[in-house]
Amino acid sequence: MSVTENKKPLLQVKNLKKYFPIKKGFLQRTIGHVKAVDNISLDVYKGETFGLVGESGCGKSTTGRTILRLDRPTEGSIRFAGQDITDVKGSTLRKIRQDLQMVFQDPYASLNPKMMVGNILAEPILNFNKLPKEKIKAQVMDLLVKVGLTYDAYYKYPHEFSGGQRQRIGIARALALKPKLIIADEPVSALDVSVQSQVLNLLKRLQEEFKLTFIFIAHDLSVVKHMSDRIGVMYLGQMIEVAQGESLYREPLHPYTQALLSAIPIPDPRSRKERIVLKGDVPNPANPPTGCSFHPRCPHVMPECREKRPVLKEVRPKHQVACFLHG
Ligand code: SF4
Repeated sequence: MSVTENKKPLLQVKNLKKYFPIKKGFLQRTIGHVKAVDNISLDVYKGETFGLVGESGCGKSTTGRTILRLDRPTEGSIRFAGQDITDVKGSTLRKIRQDLQMVFQDPYASLNPKMMVGNILAEPILNFNKLPKEKIKAQVMDLLVKVGLTYDAYYKYPHEFSGGQRQRIGIARALALKPKLIIADEPVSALDVSVQSQVLNLLKRLQEEFKLTFIFIAHDLSVVKHMSDRIGVMYLGQMIEVAQGESLYREPLHPYTQALLSAIPIPDPRSRKERIVLKGDVPNPANPPTGCSFHPRCPHVMPECREKRPVLKEVRPKHQVACFLHG
């Protein structure tokens, strides 16, 4: 049975928008908006990994940050564990942050270089729990072992570790408050290829052990495939296709997803398909094209694509796409 069957979503995002104002002049007047996230809806179920993919600048990281309420939504709603968290503030938001954590792309930038790793990991626990020092230290030691580090890491500083080890520390910090949902934003893209699979396997193991739900953000479709139950493809701030991983890779429906998948190197020459090379660059999100935002680059563009925006709809069981080629 798939993770989505007979379950209520742990996270429900509806019509989420995040626009950043463009300011100009001495008076800093708003002259437009960058539509980083433009009307996205998605459900994430307990225990699943939802992969979010797209080229850099497509809005996937802003989607993650807005769900975590690190950025304020411009419009739309976010429900987490049955609670509307769209506008929560102060102590309620603080409490929710225990359950919603993030693993960042660059672990070094997100770890305070002047703090001992033991203190970095103890900090979130101290902020939320009144526990004796020895108990917190024991919890931190336990976390270090869980992410594959040794006890002596407690007394070291971030610069004393390799990139892969630092990402393990970042993961331990995200786990410190026993969250329900972790948003991992490109967690392996800054790492050597040889280390990437170790960190991905660690995340999978921890997911089982801690019953975690993941949103896994990446630009690399082969990394997302390894991790995800379902995958959402984003283009220019919009969700253009959502499907179960295996269905998306077997039969991508959106021309953009087809192009992304055709760029993944396949070792077996008999299984290789012709690479689809897209013309032009991703348009400016401050001035997106009319109609389907992919139309200036689409090899199948039709007159209606320039005028109307296709909506995401289910065209096969559990497979949604936003494209006029499909109904
Ligand atoms: Fe291409 Fe039209 Fe489909 Fe957009 S709606 S992806 S332009 S065929």
